[in-house]
Formats: sequence, structure tokens, C-alpha cells
Amino acid sequence: MQVILENHQEYQSIAEILRLFFLEVGKLESGVILVADSEYADIILHSFIECEVSVEQMRSQADQTEISVQSRIVGSDLSIATKVVPSALRREIKRQTYFLLSKLTNVHYPWGSLTGVRPTQIVYRSFLENHHDKNLTIQDLIEDWYVVPDKAEIGLKTAVTEAKILAALQSELPMLYIGVPFCTTRCSYCSFITQDAINMGTKLDIYVQALLQEITEISDYFKRINKPFQAIYMGGGTPTVLSDQGFTKVITAIKEQVPQIENCEITIEAGRPDSITPAKLAAIKTIAEARICINPQTMHDQTLQIIGRNHSVEDVYRAYELARANDFSSINMDLILGLPGETGEDFLYSLDKLLELDPESITIHTMALKRSAFLEQQYAAQYLKLRFPDRELSNTFSIAIQKLAKQGYQPYYLYRQKNTRGGLENIGFTKTGYACVYNVGMMSDQISIVGLGSGSSSKRVDGDRLERIYNPKDLTNYVERLAEIIQRKINFFSES
Ligand code: SF4
Repeated sequence: MQVILENHQEYQSIAEILRLFFLEVGKLESGVILVADSEYADIILHSFIECEVSVEQMRSQADQTEISVQSRIVGSDLSIATKVVPSALRREIKRQTYFLLSKLTNVHYPWGSLTGVRPTQIVYRSFLENHHDKNLTIQDLIEDWYVVPDKAEIGLKTAVTEAKILAALQSELPMLYIGVPFCTTRCSYCSFITQDAINMGTKLDIYVQALLQEITEISDYFKRINKPFQAIYMGGGTPTVLSDQGFTKVITAIKEQVPQIENCEITIEAGRPDSITPAKLAAIKTIAEARICINPQTMHDQTLQIIGRNHSVEDVYRAYELARANDFSSINMDLILGLPGETGEDFLYSLDKLLELDPESITIHTMALKRSAFLEQQYAAQYLKLRFPDRELSNTFSIAIQKLAKQGYQPYYLYRQKNTRGGLENIGFTKTGYACVYNVGMMSDQISIVGLGSGSSSKRVDGDRLERIYNPKDLTNYVERLAEIIQRKINFFSES
């Protein structure tokens, strides 16, 4: 197949859509993208806009000039055309390309032409444009964006809840992320820059010292400018892999040094059940009402072994009971849909087990296919095709949503990753009153995030402007350059 671009250079946008349908997508050469798929060898897709538009025009919301966009399969009846303002051009080119390829191949993704990380942002915009009419919004999502009906429905439900949570936040106050990029062992599907704690030895203590220094100095700065944090999230990796002593020091620093609003939400990831100890739970308990996350990912021992989690289902029960015995009243648990070797039934069994435990929130992730020798070996020849639509997984997700709703769990945040199995999404579900506002604020790009620790990112939001800076991923680099890293962060947040 050849894709000819005329009057525009939206190669990346079109390639992103092509990759949904074809395994090998070439580079842009003289305005043409080549796709290696013998079945469609003679096909030519023509993507055309009536005149060239500058990047500045495409960024400007003020320019209301209507520009004609047209896409067609040359020599066939398949074509689509419309007029849009410059700021909507990229989205429209992608939408039209999706429409043609979906017709041509008869492949339909659950989220249709919505390929971004945050589909609920487009859903909510449509809801506002439709004057809060839910039926019209769902109709638009299905007819204009080619979203399947149950995703349109869950997308809208989640978007409305996200908007309510965001409206209750204070846009001028930041949120704090504290990262501990270590785990007991590395999960075979992990793409994160985590390191096995077991091999770190004394480096863990050095890391804790550096983190404490960053917490202290950044806290002092935000106290000075009188901007307390409105939510704090300690994640990773798995923060609970630190020694009892090291972990307790960090928790004490959060409690005693970090400026925070009254009733500030605090979440501590205690992801690996085998890393949870009575001493760590006691330390967390010194922070009133902290949320914790205990993440089984699956309730099948065999799968846990396959994915290298190095803990058992029994460990999950033990950690959960220990947390309840210590009066934790807001527990989140994560599951992953589409793990190697698991059927839809296996996943629903895990969900049933979690529902019996009755945590306050449950997050369902869809397995993301990162390039890794392990995953390619597990899935063999199927590997590259696993991101294509998958009816069994889609049905399983729908049944899961129904089961969760029946027990009082509603979706409150949703995001998508690249190359997930079946093109499916991740959704956080919660019982009333237990939504994690950090998750919503962080995903919204409307709240500034201050990230501490190796590999963390900080985000400064100033109206429509958004800028990021990153702490080094390399541990030695982080520790050795700490003073400079802290000063750079203070300067970065001073600019707003
Ligand atoms: S627990 Fe999370 S961060 Fe740690 S290895 Fe597993 S997937 Fe990676």
C-alpha cells in the first residue's frame, strides 16, 4: 500500500493509525508512506488538505478559517471529506485515515479513531459541545469517532466523574510524587526503569538519604512560597521494598516536613504483597487516612510464577488481612487483563476473588506489549498481533465492568497506553468517596506535579502551557548531582 500526503506533513499522525492495521509501516519518502502487506499491495490512500497550514496556525485556537480535508482510496468509492479549523486538522486527518482503513480491512478497534492516552478529554469536550446531552455525546462518539457503544458509555461516565473530581481541586496547588524505583524482582512485562532491590545492597540506604534530602529542600521551598500540596503519591517501583527503617524515615519526612492542605490525600504503593511488613504498615498508619495499594495483578499462582512476581496468592491474602487488621480503610488493588497464559475466565476468577475481599477501589489494567524477549517467547508468533482487536478480551472487560458496577464500583479515571492487548484501556474503579484524586489530577494535565526521586518527572502547568523536567534515571547520577537537581527544580517552579 502507498499513502500519499498532499499539502501536509502529518506523517507521524497517519503512521500511528497505519500501525493499528499493519505490522510494517515505512518512513515518509517524497510525501509517500509505504506499507508492506501483500494483501493490500495495489491500494493507494490519498490524504489531502486544500492548502498548506503552518505549525503556528495549527497550534492557534483563535484561527477559525475552515479548511477542507479529504481522504480517499484511489479508484474506489471509499472517500471522506469535511472542513475543520486549523487546530483540528491533525485530529481530522487521523479520523479520516482510520475510517478508510477500518472499512478496507474490516478491523474495528474498541476506541475507534481515538488513539491518544486520554480519550476522556475528547469525550468530555464532546459532552460540553452537546450541552451536557449524554445521548447526543454517545451518538457523536459512535458515529464520528467510531468508538464502540460500550466504550462510548464507559468513556462518558468516567469523563463526567473526572470533571467533578477536577472541579473540586485547587488548580493553583501542586501535587507531590515520591518515587522509589526498586522492586523485589522484575516482572517479566515491566517497561519501567525499576531495579531489583535485592541486588542493590547498601545503595538502597544511599538512595533513602538522597530522597530525604530532596524531600526536605523541596518542602522548604514550597513552604516559603506558601503552596501546600493537595495530594501526595509515593510510588515506584515498590516503595515497600525499602528496609523497615528506611521506609519509616521517608514516611516520617512526608508527615513532618511536606507542607500539605488539611485532609491532604496520601497514597502509598505497597504493590508487591511480599514486601509488606507490620512495621511498614505501622509507619504508614501514623498518617491518618492514608490510602494503600496492594497489587496482586492476578489471583493465579501459576501466572504469578510465569510473570516473575515471586509471590503467591496466599501472600496477597496475608497482606490484605494485615492491612485490615491495622485499620486501613482505603485499599486499592490492581489486576491486569490479558496476562500470558490467562483466558478471560481466568481473569474473571481473579476479579471475583478481589470482590470477595471487598477493597475500596480496584484498578484494571490491560497488558501492554513492550518489546521484551520474555513476552515474545511467551506469545511466540502471535506476539505482534496481540495489539489487534480481541473479542474475548473485550467481552471479558465488559463483564468485569458489569460485575464491578453490581458491587458498587464506578469508573473514575481512565487512560490508555500504546500497544495494549486488543487496543483496550486501563480504568480505575471505586466505591463512593474513595477515588484517588492524585490519579485524576496527574492524568488531567491541569495540576502541577512535583516529582522527587530518581527517574521522576515534574510538570508545571500554567494556564494552557505545560512544561516538564526530569530527574536522572541513573541512580549514581541522581545521588551525585542531587544539589544541582534540587536547585533546577526550584528554579523551574519559580518561573510560574
Ligand atoms: S511491580 Fe511494577 S514496577 Fe515493579 S517490576 Fe513489576 S511492573 Fe515493574
